[in-house]
Amino acid sequence: MNKINKIKGFFDLFPPESTAYVFMEETAREVFSRYAYTEVRIPILEHTELFARSIGKETDVVQKEMYTFEDRKGRSLTLRPEATAGVIRAYIESPEAGSGGVNRFFTTGPMFRYERPQKGRTRQFHQLNVELLGEHSAFADGEILLMLWSYLQKLGLKELNMQLNSLGCTSCRPDFDAKLKNFLAMSEQENLCVDCQRRARSNPMRVLDCKVKGCAAVASSAPRILDSLCRNCRDHFDTVLAVLDMTDIRYELNPYLVRGLDYYQRTTFEVISTDIGAQSAVAGGGRYDGLIRDLGGPDIPGIGFACGMERLALLLRSIQERPLDFYLAVLHEEAMDTAMFMAQRLRDKGFEGEMGFQIKSLKSQLRLANRKKVKTCLLLGRDELEKGQIQVKDMSTGVQRAVSQDDVEQALGLNLKTKAESFVQH
Ligand SMILES: [Zn+2]
Ligand SMILES: [Zn+2]
Repeated sequence: MNKINKIKGFFDLFPPESTAYVFMEETAREVFSRYAYTEVRIPILEHTELFARSIGKETDVVQKEMYTFEDRKGRSLTLRPEATAGVIRAYIESPEAGSGGVNRFFTTGPMFRYERPQKGRTRQFHQLNVELLGEHSAFADGEILLMLWSYLQKLGLKELNMQLNSLGCTSCRPDFDAKLKNFLAMSEQENLCVDCQRRARSNPMRVLDCKVKGCAAVASSAPRILDSLCRNCRDHFDTVLAVLDMTDIRYELNPYLVRGLDYYQRTTFEVISTDIGAQSAVAGGGRYDGLIRDLGGPDIPGIGFACGMERLALLLRSIQERPLDFYLAVLHEEAMDTAMFMAQRLRDKGFEGEMGFQIKSLKSQLRLANRKKVKTCLLLGRDELEKGQIQVKDMSTGVQRAVSQDDVEQALGLNLKTKAESFVQH
C-alpha cells in the first residue's frame, strides 16, 4: 500500500520536540495564573467574516494567507490565522460581555496561514495568546509587558529585546494617516510593490509593514507616528515607558513597528530574540481598543499578545526529557501478575514507569532498561517471587540489591531524591 504523507507546511511532533511544547504550555499556565489569567478553549474554525472584519481586508493575512473554504452548505469558513478575533467573538457571546468587569484570558493551540514554509515558519503553527479586556489604564499595558517578559525569562531565554511603538488613537491617527498618504504620494510610486501602490491610498500604515525591499526602503524615511501622537496617547505611552524603566526589561522604541493586523492602537510591541542567530520575533501584541465594539460587542478596550511556539521551540532545542523512575522487567512467566500489580501500586503512589510484557533474558532486559534511560530497573524472576523479593538495580551506579516487595517504594524513593531539573537551556 502507498503511504499517505502529511500536508506541506504541516508537521508532526514527537519527543523531545513535543516535550518542549508541553513545557511552554505548563510554564504559561504557571506564570499567567499568577496574574489571574484563566484559560479559555475556542474553535479553530470561524466564519471568514470574523477575520476580514478584525484583522483587516488590506492585510497580507486576509488577502493571501488564509485557509478559506466553503462548507457543505456553501458558507465561507476559515481556519483561524490568529487567536484574538476568536477570543473576542467568544467573549462577546458569553455572559461576561455585559458584566462591565475586567477579564483576563489566555489560550493556546494551532493557527493556520498559507505562507512559504521555512525554518521556524510552518503553515500550521502554534501560539500562546493572552487577552486583557475592559481596562484602559496604561498600567494594564505595563502588567502585560511584565508578564510576557517574566514568562520568557521563566522559559530560560536570555538574549531578549523588546521593541515598542504607539500607533495612536482614533483622534490622532487620521492626521498621521493623512501625513503618511502625502509622503507616499510624493515618493517614487514605482519603488512600491503593486499592493502598496494601492495601500498608499487606502491604508497607508500597511506600507510600513510590507516585507518587499523597495517598500521597506520607502518606509525607512516615512514620517514617524511617535511625532504625531495626541496628548492622551503621549501620556499613555509615557506611563508605559515609565513602568518599564522601573524594571530590568531591555527595550527600545521602534517607530516603524506597526504589526501585520489592522486592529492595533496605541501600545504595540514585539520581543526579539537573537538566540536563534538571525533576529527573530518570538512574541508580539498590542492594544486594540476599538476591536470589541467593531465585532458587535460592548465598547470596551483590550490589549494582548501572542507567543510563537515554533520560534520558542527552536530556542529550547536542548531540552532534556525527564527519565522514567523505573522499568519493571519480568524474567519468568509466573511472575507476570505479581509484576502487573506491583507496577500499578507504584503508579498509584506517583512513580512513573514502564513494564515489559515479554519474558526475556536478564541481559536483554537490562539492555532494554539502559536504552530507555530509566533511573532504576526492577527485576522479578522465579527466585524473587518465591522469597517475596524484587531486585532493584540503580542504572547509574550499577549497584543491584534484593529488597522485600513491600519496600520497593522506599528503594525507588531514594533514587527519586536525585531527580534533577528537567529543562535546561544551553
Ligand atoms: Zn491619540
Ligand atoms: Zn509593498
